[in-house]
Amino acid sequence: MEEVLSVNDLHVSFSTYGGEVQAVRGVSFQVKKGETLAIVGESGCGKSVTSQSIMRLIPSPPGRIRKGSVLYKGKDLLRCSEAQMRRIRGKDISMIFQDPMTALNPTLTIGEQIKEGILQHEDVTRKEAGVRARKMLELVGIPNPEERLKQYPHQFSGGMRQRIVIAMALVCQPDVLIADEPTTALDVTIQAQILELFKEIQDKTGVSIILITHDLGVVAQVADRIAVMYAGKIVEEGTRREIFYTPQHPYTKGLLHSVPRLDLVGEDLIPIPGSPPDLFAPPAGCPFAARCDMAMEVCDRVHPEKTRLSKDHHVDCWLQDDRAKQAMLSAVNVT
Ligand code: SF4
Ligand code: MG
Repeated sequence: MEEVLSVNDLHVSFSTYGGEVQAVRGVSFQVKKGETLAIVGESGCGKSVTSQSIMRLIPSPPGRIRKGSVLYKGKDLLRCSEAQMRRIRGKDISMIFQDPMTALNPTLTIGEQIKEGILQHEDVTRKEAGVRARKMLELVGIPNPEERLKQYPHQFSGGMRQRIVIAMALVCQPDVLIADEPTTALDVTIQAQILELFKEIQDKTGVSIILITHDLGVVAQVADRIAVMYAGKIVEEGTRREIFYTPQHPYTKGLLHSVPRLDLVGEDLIPIPGSPPDLFAPPAGCPFAARCDMAMEVCDRVHPEKTRLSKDHHVDCWLQDDRAKQAMLSAVNVT
């Protein structure tokens, strides 16, 4: 599959009174055409900062993209001017957020807002834009689009508003849609419908989706591949099957144990004890060491390198590193 977006060794920090917070520390991943890549992790792990960096929406100062590249169609977005980025945002790469109200203007009708999005990027008549707006509402499953276009955001339910925001994000047929916790504010039934909508739209348009979420349940429904983030790094990445059935990082395993499962009704969810490290002064070794049941002596001292387990599956954990296994064996032999 063709690669549409490639993030390489991204480092982002924020300066605060307490010092420099290293929010994203060397993140790399690729997004292929027509796939959904989910980025999963607890709040503060750097997943939203990563997606905002792709769009160059990090407030600077205090934020600073210190290093890395984001390649889209041969261009490095981190080196584009603000004018170039304005053309790319919404047209080539779109983004939606948790709260649809932040994306909607309460004083304009839905129709005006969707048309505005088209006219900003494309040289078409208002009439053509109106036709496209109606088609978009149909695509995202809003009944009576003709009537609905004349209404204001407050006349829609939360789920319908999120559908409208998705319509606005897709109206210029972007290659990539970044959705940051798009269903977190919705109740479970609506959440499932919106996730289903993502899949339908992807089938129809071939858009690539980066889905940012703290909820592995959401991911199970739609992701092709999953990247698990912890303390500013991707600690494990693989296909949905690999992450759900053969997770290797103790943190990924912990996350899976803290997801409610329909087939295990009545079993207790096990939260992961402890909290992530301080990103003012990230640990030299594995960032999960303080919470990890499997931690070895080397884990505290040296950061584990990426170990590749299959074409798509890799993990940052000493347990999978042959050198640690060798060292343990020789320690056993010596004593
Ligand atoms: Fe646990 Fe060590 Fe693996 Fe980190 S490297 S997750 S501390 S076993
Ligand atoms: Mg977030």
